[in-house]
Amino acid sequence: MQSPGELPAIRSVRVGTTGTGSMHREHRYGSPLPTLLWVLLSRRWVDGVPVHFFAIDHRDGLVLFDTGLDPACASNPREYLGSALGVFFLNRLFRWQIRPEDNVTDQLALMGHDAGAVRKVVFSHLHFDHTGCIDHLLHAELIAPRREWQALTRPKAERSWYLRQHVDLPGAQWTLFDMAPCDDPDLASFDGCLDVMGDGSIMILPTPGHTAGSVSMLLRSAGMPPILLIADLAFELDMLMADHMPGVGEDFDAMRDSYARVRALRERLPGLIVLPSHDMETAARLSEALPA
Ligand SMILES: [Zn+2]
Repeated sequence: MQSPGELPAIRSVRVGTTGTGSMHREHRYGSPLPTLLWVLLSRRWVDGVPVHFFAIDHRDGLVLFDTGLDPACASNPREYLGSALGVFFLNRLFRWQIRPEDNVTDQLALMGHDAGAVRKVVFSHLHFDHTGCIDHLLHAELIAPRREWQALTRPKAERSWYLRQHVDLPGAQWTLFDMAPCDDPDLASFDGCLDVMGDGSIMILPTPGHTAGSVSMLLRSAGMPPILLIADLAFELDMLMADHMPGVGEDFDAMRDSYARVRALRERLPGLIVLPSHDMETAARLSEALPA
């Protein structure tokens, strides 16, 4: 992938946090109760859940994996969600601690990056806590799985936490993709892939389950361990390793299958660092893997 003397393809991988929140135990770890019952009645909360996105400084430009939350969803939820029912369910599901500076532009600045320098944003899926502040990034190429766009643009999509009014923006430069056949033997456990930069260093892999179109991002470059960003495939790495299903997901069979494919990749790539977007350990695991 890389000839001797060439600069590493990836210069840095950083995590941004667009606020933290609490979610119900049943939501995170599963429950034998019907979903609506625990959504309405649970008083058991898991606190300190981060809402992460990632910035990959590639030699050909800055690439993001998701954009996190828009602080407006906490400061002005009625306007952001567009419906009182949405606000009711949002408040049943989450308690946020989000400051105005918990947005993609300010979080990038903390890493020393200028939002204006973002070249591409790849979205794991199009839930609202992964698509905040797209209006800050209209100059960039926005890349999403076609199946996620279909979920975003179907009627009543907001009931599944797809907020089209904040994603399908005038002037936004969207590229929708399907997976291509993959001839990389390391990635043989997956049904296809997408090579984002054309050099194998940033590969998108299908990992459905949380939603039908959800994808993960594999980072490989000289001088760093391989890293797999799995977004919401699993809320915690330990859950993926133990085959532990969460309380919500579009397709649990697909999720179980994606868990197994990630575990197979881990065997294939020893030292693979697997980072979920809402795992309390993600930031520490990344800084341990890539000391600044
Ligand atoms: Zn999600």
